[in-house]
Amino acid sequence: MSEEESNKHHFQAEVQQLLNIVINSLYTDKEIFIRELVSNAADALEKMRHTQLTKKSVLDPELELAINITTDEEKKIITIIDHGIGMNRDELTQNLGTIAHSGSKKFINSLSESDQKETSLIGQFGVGFYSAFMVSDNVKVFTRSWEKDSQCLSWASDGKSGYEIQEEGDRKRGTSIVISLTDDHEEFSKEDRVKDILQSYSSFVPFPVLLNGERINTVEAIWMKPKSEITDEDYTEFYKFTAKAFDDPHYRMHFSADAPLMINSLVFVPKENPEKLGFGQVDPAVALYCNKVLIDGAPKGLLPDWLRFLKGVIDSEDLPLNISRESMQDSALIKKLNRLITKRFIKFLERESTADNEKYETFYNQFRNFIKEGVITDADHRDSLANLLRFETSIEEPDNLSSLDQYVTRMKEGQDKIYFQIAQDRNSIESAPYLEAFKVRGLEVLFLYEAIDEYLVGQLTSFSEKELVSINRADLELDDIETKGDSLDEKSASELCEWLKETLGERIAEVRASKRLVDSPAAALTPGGSMSPQMKQMMQQMNPDFSQSQSVEIEINPRHELIRKLQEVRQSRSDLAPMIAEQIVDNALLSAGLLDESKNMVNRVYDIMLKSLD
Ligand code: ADP
Ligand code: MG
Repeated sequence: MSEEESNKHHFQAEVQQLLNIVINSLYTDKEIFIRELVSNAADALEKMRHTQLTKKSVLDPELELAINITTDEEKKIITIIDHGIGMNRDELTQNLGTIAHSGSKKFINSLSESDQKETSLIGQFGVGFYSAFMVSDNVKVFTRSWEKDSQCLSWASDGKSGYEIQEEGDRKRGTSIVISLTDDHEEFSKEDRVKDILQSYSSFVPFPVLLNGERINTVEAIWMKPKSEITDEDYTEFYKFTAKAFDDPHYRMHFSADAPLMINSLVFVPKENPEKLGFGQVDPAVALYCNKVLIDGAPKGLLPDWLRFLKGVIDSEDLPLNISRESMQDSALIKKLNRLITKRFIKFLERESTADNEKYETFYNQFRNFIKEGVITDADHRDSLANLLRFETSIEEPDNLSSLDQYVTRMKEGQDKIYFQIAQDRNSIESAPYLEAFKVRGLEVLFLYEAIDEYLVGQLTSFSEKELVSINRADLELDDIETKGDSLDEKSASELCEWLKETLGERIAEVRASKRLVDSPAAALTPGGSMSPQMKQMMQQMNPDFSQSQSVEIEINPRHELIRKLQEVRQSRSDLAPMIAEQIVDNALLSAGLLDESKNMVNRVYDIMLKSLD
């Protein structure tokens, strides 16, 4: 066998298989080869750094640990140079001739399961070094290992038949990968194009990345560093860079875990909520990294939708580098990451709220729509998210917020429900007739003011095993309370109810005497209770057949003077009594926000005035 022939090698069968796919696939994200090679260079530098720390003598110790990329547009060449650990002859054949590494191995393994979906598999598992053959049929690797007496070698291949290893003239430690691009892919020899790719993919590679001599990356992977080595300014700088923000972050959560997944994560909550400012729904912005190399700057399925306000980085070494955008949401690993980070973040907010409530409330006032959205849409985290909710309540000053937990600890003995009322503001709740029954019984009521709260209580039906109920629910049972003063007896009360029902006709579903009212003569109730006037209006607009009055029930207060008088005179003053009945109902509907048509009412009031002046 001649010397020349002995330098020629065939690829391992699996590599051959892989290369066929890489070359023939229609995989569109060809630019990922830059990501792969930069990531390999970074790995080689990382290993070098480690070797320098652990070994007494290494070759060319003065070389800077950096990644240099050069482009030659004329010759259609892109070169990736690192002064990392390099490779000796054995390593060259092992690393670039077989499938030793995890990514490609998984790729090949899953091929046997489905040979149809090759292209999507490339995206899912990545093909590492071999991705260079997506854009080239002439790849040359020059390399020299870190050991003092190492050989200078080259590895060359067209990605088809095999590869050739040769001895080269003297050169420095490390590896250069020279890629002659095919005509279809000459774009990757254009500096601007490569710069774009590098900026988005490698800005946090923890070594300098230079393109034709110019430094590309500015920020290091601070999420991988121990917290003790990072200053507040570092954090803020990094936040501004990743979030492209101008403000300081309100919160930051930096944590690392080894189990069940290797995670380094650094996420921020901005000061302002852009959705609150009316900029529409924001896109997710937490970037996904695999060991400092960017996988996706804004992955969609990484975190639940309601966490889209978070900025920052999640880095997991367990991820395949080239997990594709399409496959991301189906990946079990991503789901695991998702659950882990979400749980951590909710815990984080809970802790923050106890540590500094004022700061938490500032956050809450900005971002509560996301928390509420989470309660509504994220069944997995609903219960823990409910701990983060804050509300005004009937017994606290306006602007004093309470958690559900605080509410529960303040509950009266024997109270087994959490009461709430939805209306547009505090005043509407306090002036409506429902609250008085709760006040007089010493029952606290949560005040909810937002449209989203309808859905919130639709999903969050209980907290701490206590049912959440609206105080205007018709079937609500309240304890009897001692009542002062006269009251209609049961018989005349039910007579009056019957008469009212007759007089009011279709407008009202039911009339009954009530224990819940204290100061008001009557109240309008809806069977579901929690549907607010705004919601009703919306339903009506969508479906004209949706009739609200059909379902409205009226409760009257048999102790109220007006009600007692009405019963007394309803027969003798048949000219006035029906008008007064109608007016009582309209007033009740009005304070419930359920009155559709006020024209009749105004005219009727004039009639009543006139009669009283007679
Ligand atoms: P992976 O990075 O997942 O191991 P690759 O196909 O990207 O798979 O690379 C295969 C192997 O080739 C690497 O594990 C490494 O040992 C070697 N290698 C690739 N690029 C370099 C480089 N620039 N310097 C040193 N070794 C390298
Ligand atoms: Mg690699």
